[in-house]
Amino acid sequence: MNYDVIIIGSGVTGAGIARELSKYKLKIAVLDKASELPSGASRANSSMIHGGFDDKPGTMKSKFCVPGNKLWHKLTQELDIDFNPCGSYVCAFNDDEIKHLELLLEQGKTNGAPGVEIISGDKLREKEPNVSKEIVAALWSPEAGIINNFEAVNALIENARLNNADLFLETLATGLLFDEKNNIRGVTTNIGEFFAPVVINAGGVHSGEISKWAGDESFKIIPTKGEYLLLDRTTKGFINSFLFSCPSKAGKGITVLQTAEGNLMSGPTATEQEDPEDRATTPEGLAEVLKGARRLVPDFPVKLNITTFAGVRANTESGDFEIKVLKTPRGFVNVAGIKSPGFTSSPAIAEYVADLLKEELADRIKLIPNKKFIPERRNIPRFLYLSMEERKKLAEKDPAYAQIVCRCETVTEGQVLEAIRRGAKTVTAVKMMTRAGTGRCQGGFCCPRVAEILSRELNIPLDEITRHGGESKLLAGKTKEFLLKGAE
Ligand SMILES: Cc1cc2nc3c(=O)[nH]c(=O)nc-3n(C[C@H](O)[C@H](O)[C@H](O)COP(=O)(O)OP(=O)(O)OC[C@H]3O[C@@H](n4cnc5c(N)ncnc54)[C@H](O)[C@@H]3O)c2cc1C
Repeated sequence: MNYDVIIIGSGVTGAGIARELSKYKLKIAVLDKASELPSGASRANSSMIHGGFDDKPGTMKSKFCVPGNKLWHKLTQELDIDFNPCGSYVCAFNDDEIKHLELLLEQGKTNGAPGVEIISGDKLREKEPNVSKEIVAALWSPEAGIINNFEAVNALIENARLNNADLFLETLATGLLFDEKNNIRGVTTNIGEFFAPVVINAGGVHSGEISKWAGDESFKIIPTKGEYLLLDRTTKGFINSFLFSCPSKAGKGITVLQTAEGNLMSGPTATEQEDPEDRATTPEGLAEVLKGARRLVPDFPVKLNITTFAGVRANTESGDFEIKVLKTPRGFVNVAGIKSPGFTSSPAIAEYVADLLKEELADRIKLIPNKKFIPERRNIPRFLYLSMEERKKLAEKDPAYAQIVCRCETVTEGQVLEAIRRGAKTVTAVKMMTRAGTGRCQGGFCCPRVAEILSRELNIPLDEITRHGGESKLLAGKTKEFLLKGAE
């Protein structure tokens, strides 16, 4: 358990830093308490790669958003991540909101966001005929896009692992270890001690607590929930891009978007709460989402809703990211409070963290380029998107690709086997890596089949297979045994 760097948290921030640091000859350990990735805010968000006009110039968010956007355009190619460079619109309904668009336009220009411009409501409706007739103008941002966030985090960590980083799932960091000079020596966890001269805190909504272990209480995380409605993929094309309302003090407001896979989606709300792990949706929250969706898109086809979900933002009082190397203890780096546009910013944050290590922690760690670094990684074949010819070829090579496991998303046994080969151990891990269970029936059909394949391949009894680790077993026992018990 001896490493050069330990990263706590493998959301898009931690996984991105791991991949960036794997360009150097370093022993890297990434610890995450979850059983599958992504698990925190990186799992449940709007998946927008922002254009970079929304952040106040001079903030850390403004510094990283535009470069992050550029890096994602390259990374999605290199790492084979599903990405739709569809652009985004901020919609204005009146003169006051047009004034706000002008402010965003200026901000965008200052931040270096390419191609931002204000267009008329009619021009917007030429591209998006289903938006409200009341919209009078919109801010168009051509470089924005929508990413498959499940694929993105898995791609980053897979590539980091390919370049020798070690990932430890179900590993909860519980504290820090210090040497006799009170500098960083490692991390304590539920599975034992990990040693390294540098520890990076990428714990998302828990990053405030982790920072306290190092004695830095200069910021506080305010967990802020965002609820969503997700519609069936038959809504594909109803909206082709990403529609924002005009932002207010509460945040960017309710949006309507088409996910990278083609589902219509709307959200998020912004409700502060105490509990960082509370991801329950509420009738009030969902009603607010629907109201906001209908304002932008009056005929929003909510009858085709297939699920609801919520994510929790790691907001800070300053409203900005908290990225710094602590003076004491030496060796501790906060990459905390990574709220929106954190997904967008993450590759630029990762580069910045590597620079911080070079400049501020050279006495503890040497970043020597790894000449054997492999930048590419290929995704599990997305059977749904393949032509009949391509499907046939794949199935001829491996008959497991001829067995459909998930009917809604046309996921094959071949894909499930490949996910297991890449480390999936739970039903949700298979879902994150293949989309099995993300469709209309939400796993009703494929969940038992995925569980059977997991049981067979991992040689684990079926009743030990879990949805997402821990106590989340799928089966409570055999019906016959229950009946016999009842008879007794
Ligand atoms: C509702 C919502 C909408 C958003 N929309 C967008 C958007 O459209 N575009 C955009 O750019 N950004 C968006 N964001 C922001 C973006 O999702 C986050 O900035 C980003 O995902 C943060 O990533 P992270 O890795 O810092 O945190 P997380 O993804 O939360 O990852 C933290 C990880 O740390 C692990 N962890 C925590 N504590 C411990 C511990 N003690 N031991 C081990 N592991 C631990 C967790 O299990 C988790 O996996 C949105 C966020 C939300 C919530």
